[in-house]
Amino acid sequence: MKKLVIGLLSLLLLLTGCQKNNQEDGKLNIVVTTTMITDLVETIGGDHVNVKGLMTTGVDPHLYQAKASDATTLIAADLVIYNGVHLEAKLTDVLAKLENAISLESGLDEGDILADDEGGIDPHIWFSVPLWKKAAIRVSKGLSELDPTNAKDYDANLQKYLVELDDLQSYITNKLSVIEGDKRVLVTAHDAFNYFAHSNNFEVRSIQGISTESEASTSTISELADFITKHQIKSVFTESSISPKTIESLQKAVESRGFKVTIGEELYSDSLKDNASYIETFKLNVDAIVRALA
Ligand SMILES: [Zn+2]
Repeated sequence: MKKLVIGLLSLLLLLTGCQKNNQEDGKLNIVVTTTMITDLVETIGGDHVNVKGLMTTGVDPHLYQAKASDATTLIAADLVIYNGVHLEAKLTDVLAKLENAISLESGLDEGDILADDEGGIDPHIWFSVPLWKKAAIRVSKGLSELDPTNAKDYDANLQKYLVELDDLQSYITNKLSVIEGDKRVLVTAHDAFNYFAHSNNFEVRSIQGISTESEASTSTISELADFITKHQIKSVFTESSISPKTIESLQKAVESRGFKVTIGEELYSDSLKDNASYIETFKLNVDAIVRALA
């Protein structure tokens, strides 16, 4: 089925080339992948854009596969904006064929992207506020190139948002300051929080790697249970876009070692909370981490 959908997409893309869709309301028709990018583009584009996200809240972007209807949506777009850094792993072929697409990755600098021990690149750039500022700048540039008439508005929206993102970083730093050095360990289902850890002086441990494509192994769970017991870590976290099963087996493994670890509130990792902005969702995560670990 996947091959068929991609084949169909390729054919449609070939037939229509870079044909633009004329919106009756005069707004740009922007198609994005994740909920974080929907929020970002709506913020920078303001009244000049209609944003359609392929993925809704709670959807795992590592595993998302193109639906047949996505072809029409992508072709009708004036501009497609996606994360890149191999986040949309199953859409790579489709996105690469689009002429009207930009990635947030293209707004980053060399050295910004983190890698795991095996050299796999980490796509979760939205968990670094400094990198999300670069993503916002990239979106503003992309919209201005497409629609120079309104470039001043995109820049004004950008400047306002950059200040809000600086305020967010201050909020994060202040809130987390109550968690002492040796308690700054975040144990989660998959490795979404490396950028968060990197900017906020945390250590992260997870059951799955930086993508949810790989299965959790029992040896990883066992090693992690040893680590939690040894360091007496109070809480581990589940994530909104991932099944809590692996975290529950980790909790059981810790219990069998004679230590009790609680499961903290669900963190929003690869998708925003329903009807909440990026900034609001980030604050909810930080508050939950403070409640569990402070
Ligand atoms: Zn992820």
